Amino acid sequence: MSFSNLGLSNEIIRAVTELGYTKPTPIQIQAIPAVLSGGDLLAGAQTGTGKTASFTLPLLHRLSNHTPKSTAHGYPAIRALILTPTRELAAQVESSVRDYGKYLNLNTMAMFGGVSINPQKRTLKGRVDILVSTPGRLLDHVQQGTVNLSHIEVLVLDEADRMLDMGFIRDIRRILSLLPKQRQNLLFFATFSDKIKALATGLLNHPTMIEVARRNVTAETVAQKVYKVDRDRKRHLLAHLIRQDNWYQVLVFTRTKYGADRLVKQLGEDRIQALAIHGNKSQSARTHALAKFKNGSLQVLVATDIAARGLDISELPHVVNFDLPNVPEDYVHRIGRTGRAGASGEAISLVSADEYNLLGDIEKLIKQRLPFEVVAGFASNVPHKKPESISDGHKPRRSNDSKGKAGSHGKPLSPRNATGGKNSASRRGVKRDR
Ligand code: AMP
Repeated sequence: MSFSNLGLSNEIIRAVTELGYTKPTPIQIQAIPAVLSGGDLLAGAQTGTGKTASFTLPLLHRLSNHTPKSTAHGYPAIRALILTPTRELAAQVESSVRDYGKYLNLNTMAMFGGVSINPQKRTLKGRVDILVSTPGRLLDHVQQGTVNLSHIEVLVLDEADRMLDMGFIRDIRRILSLLPKQRQNLLFFATFSDKIKALATGLLNHPTMIEVARRNVTAETVAQKVYKVDRDRKRHLLAHLIRQDNWYQVLVFTRTKYGADRLVKQLGEDRIQALAIHGNKSQSARTHALAKFKNGSLQVLVATDIAARGLDISELPHVVNFDLPNVPEDYVHRIGRTGRAGASGEAISLVSADEYNLLGDIEKLIKQRLPFEVVAGFASNVPHKKPESISDGHKPRRSNDSKGKAGSHGKPLSPRNATGGKNSASRRGVKRDR
């Protein structure tokens, strides 16, 4: 199977060939014809499967094949809207759309919060064919009357499950109400849930359904270990583990950008070469670190969830959760990066007392108990400590340690138990993007 068999135009094939793509991935083989046919799509695919190209290539093909309507200001109207949960993903997807469409006469724009709104307003006064946006900032523009969504022909919800987890459902519904009734809808998710089902039912019209094989991230392919350790001894335990077994290509997750930088420095003091990738690093620094890590010349890469999300790094021998994630699904995404084909990978979590409730949430999600192990010389003896403050898209959830009842790890029941299992953005402590 080749890209030309899929019916894409020469300009698009030329762009992907230049990017080094020789053949379409499984999701692309299935999604491209479905999107080209104009129908709705419900697709289950994780980052790393080539999902962005699976909706972008046929979208570009369709848009370049017919003339757009002009709006009052004389420019063609915005014809495609791609909604993403995070700023990073919006920027990354828009950059891919630009790359894939470089030989076409279509304009793209990335739009998200956290930056000044005025340059965005100026861009919106010009020609924008494809808009990639986070929901919050898009609604800011709607409110100010600076964006017109009345000519959208194709809507893409990328990582829709993540958007729902982040509490964007109302924003999404409001945006849907502003779009023309007649349009194509493409809904992508990583993990299917009742909420996705409900959204898809209301949104999609006889969709083509695709699910590409999910990597098995259970104990069969990934050995999951949980080491109980005091927070201030985590760095020493990590250095000990890396040195003892001479680990290479270790991907370490921290919750904060500050924590990532600090850990890199500390590992350096222990003569372990590490670099960090996170939102405050320049794109060139991130690209450099990633390239070194991939070619094996960098021993440890320390990343925040948001920076690592969407990055094309997988099949690693070692993934370490230096901090447990606040959002349990992130644990699954993190450990899904380990496990080489055929061989098993190892996912290690360094868990301090203030994280026991997070561990409980993760165990509930993966329906598996993760018994504590202790490394000689690193036994925990501090009962309770507050989590450090979070500044990288996730705020800390207040620890209920001192109030909860002891669970099977001698840990309190998770706050999710206490709140009936429904998670909202505020309860999960997830910062919404505006
Ligand atoms: P995504 O799942 O969209 O995040 O894509 C993951 C990675 O796969 C990105 O680095 C893409 O550039 C790359 N990619 C997408 N499609 C192909 C393909 N057909 N051949 C090779 N690489 C691809």
